[in-house]
Amino acid sequence: MSDLLSAFLHLLLLFKLVAPVTFHHHRYDDLVRTLYKVHNQCPYITRIYSIGRSVKGRHLYVLEFSDYPGIHEALEPEVKYVGNMHGDEVLGRELLLQLSEFLCEEFRNQNQRITRLIQETRIHILPSMNPDGYEAAANKGPKIPGHLVGRNNANEVDLNRNFPDLNTYFYYNEKHGGPNHHLPLPDNWESQVEPETEAVIRWMRSFNFVLSANLHGGAVVANYPYDKSPGHRFRNAHSTTNSPTPDDKLFRKLAKVYSYAHGWMHQGWNCGDYFPDGITNGASWYSLSKGMQDFNYLHTNCFEITLELSCNKFPRQEELQREWLGNREALIQFLEQVHHGIKGMVLDENHHNLTGAVISVSGINHDVTAGEQGDYFRLLLPGTYTVTATAPGFDPLTENVIVHPGKPTLVNFYLKRSITQVNPAKKAPGGGQGSRVKAQPRITKKKDGARKQPHRGPA
Ligand SMILES: [Zn+2]
Repeated sequence: MSDLLSAFLHLLLLFKLVAPVTFHHHRYDDLVRTLYKVHNQCPYITRIYSIGRSVKGRHLYVLEFSDYPGIHEALEPEVKYVGNMHGDEVLGRELLLQLSEFLCEEFRNQNQRITRLIQETRIHILPSMNPDGYEAAANKGPKIPGHLVGRNNANEVDLNRNFPDLNTYFYYNEKHGGPNHHLPLPDNWESQVEPETEAVIRWMRSFNFVLSANLHGGAVVANYPYDKSPGHRFRNAHSTTNSPTPDDKLFRKLAKVYSYAHGWMHQGWNCGDYFPDGITNGASWYSLSKGMQDFNYLHTNCFEITLELSCNKFPRQEELQREWLGNREALIQFLEQVHHGIKGMVLDENHHNLTGAVISVSGINHDVTAGEQGDYFRLLLPGTYTVTATAPGFDPLTENVIVHPGKPTLVNFYLKRSITQVNPAKKAPGGGQGSRVKAQPRITKKKDGARKQPHRGPA
C-alpha cells in the first residue's frame, strides 16, 4: 500500500513538473494577482507601480524589471511595452503577462541572455492601458473579428486617437524652421485628454524612455511612424501616403527586427492583407491622427512602434500558447535593440550634469536630449555620423562617431562655458524629470545647413 502511495505521489510530482504552463485570459483581478505573483517570485529585480487610474478607477499598473528597481542608473536605457490600449485587442495583454513570467523565471534559472538584459536595461511593462475596455470586451468573450465592444475607454473614447496632435506643428516647423523634437504640449492639454491618456503622458515625461512598442490586434504587422500623413484631412482619413520620419531607416529596421524574429509576421501575408517584410509605415496603411506612437517621437526621446499581433482581436484561449511561442523571441529581441547607436554623458568642466543638453546628428532632423543625470541615448544604425552636443551658455562640441552593429558606442561630451555668453547667470536647468531645454534658433539654422550635407550613414 505504501509502495502504491509512494508511486502515486511520485507520479503526481512528475506531472506537476512537466505540466505545461496554463494559458488563459486574465480578467483585471487576475492580471493584478499575476503581476504580484511575479513580483513575489522575483522581488529583487521587479517593482510594481501605478501610473494613474482608468475612468472607472482601475489602477494602470506597471511591472518594472531592473537590477535596481525604482532607480535610473546613468547610461542604462529605459524601455517600455504597452498592451491592451484598445480594450478588445487582448493578445498583447496576455503576451506581456507571459513575458513578465518568462523574464522572472529565466532570471531565476540564470539564463545568461535574460540576466544580461535585466542588468543592462530598465524594462517597464504596462499590460493594460485600457482595463475598463477590457472588462467590457471580456464580458462578451472571444467574438467575431470587427466587433468593437470594449475598444474605447469607459467614456467611449478611442485612446489611440486621443493624444495631442503634434504632427501638424512638426510639419510646419520642417518647412519654416523651429524645434524638431520635444514639441511642447498645448495649453490645458490635461482637459483635452482622457484619464488613461493623461496618465500615460505623465509617465512618458517622468522617465527618459528610449524605445517602446504598443501592442494591438486585428492585423499582423509591425507599424512605424508617422501614423499621420501631412495631408491628413478628417474627410480623407482613408488616404494612404507614405509619411516617413527623419529616422525612417532606423524605424524600418526596428520593425523588421520584430517581424523577422516573429514566427510568421515577416511572411507578409496575414489576415488577408499583404505587407512586404511584415512591416508598414503607419500613414501608408491608413492615416491616423492623435495616435500614441507619433506623440512619443515628437514629444519625448522615445522611439515607439505599434505591433499588430493577431487577426482575431480576442483569440480563443487555446491559441494563446502558439501566439506566445510565435512572439517570445521577437519581444526579447526588440528590447535588445535599445542597446544600439550611441550613448554617453554631457557634462560641464566641473563634471556637472547638463540635463536637457541637445544631441544632434548631422543629416537627421530629429534631436534627442540628455536626461536628469546628464546621460543621453541616440539610437542609430551602423555607420559614421557627425554628432553635436549643445547646451545654453556652453560652446557646442562636435564629434565624428562610428557606430558598429552590436554594442552602442560610448561618446561623452565635456562642454566648456561659452566666453561670449550674453547672460552669465543662465545655465542648464537641473529641474524635474520632465524639464527640457528648448532647441535654440542657432541650432535650427545649423541643422538646416547640415541637412544639405550628404548623410554619411548607411545607404
Ligand atoms: Zn488597436
